Amino acid sequence: MTAADPDIDAFTRPYWDAAAEGHLLLRHCVACDRTHHYPREFCPHCWSEDVRWERASGRATLYTWSVVHRNDLPLFGERVPYVAAVVDLAEGPRMMTEVVGVPEGDLRIGMELEVAFRAEGEVTVPVFGRPRSDG
Ligand SMILES: [Zn+2]
Repeated sequence: MTAADPDIDAFTRPYWDAAAEGHLLLRHCVACDRTHHYPREFCPHCWSEDVRWERASGRATLYTWSVVHRNDLPLFGERVPYVAAVVDLAEGPRMMTEVVGVPEGDLRIGMELEVAFRAEGEVTVPVFGRPRSDG
């Protein structure tokens, strides 16, 4: 689980800066019109360098999840259990994240989720919860 230990460098800095402001950024390839995550400098689909930051809608559906009851890392130990999840972003990419605010028994594959942001130390990480508004 790398959520609490993001690899921040000059390239991924815009992603983390946007997260701190409440926006999820994705990398969109101009050459093949596909979007990917986690951010890479080259498009992983066609290897084009013509890839730009794009603000995501924040909408996603739940692909799979696992309730984590124990984590030996001190930072995580304070907040088990938590829901480690993979979501399908509306723009296409899959993203490893955490689902918050949804009781374990209410989790369903394909349920609608919306991005939220949680400060963890010096960084803000995207997590997903129930949509704030229907529509
Ligand atoms: Zn591409």
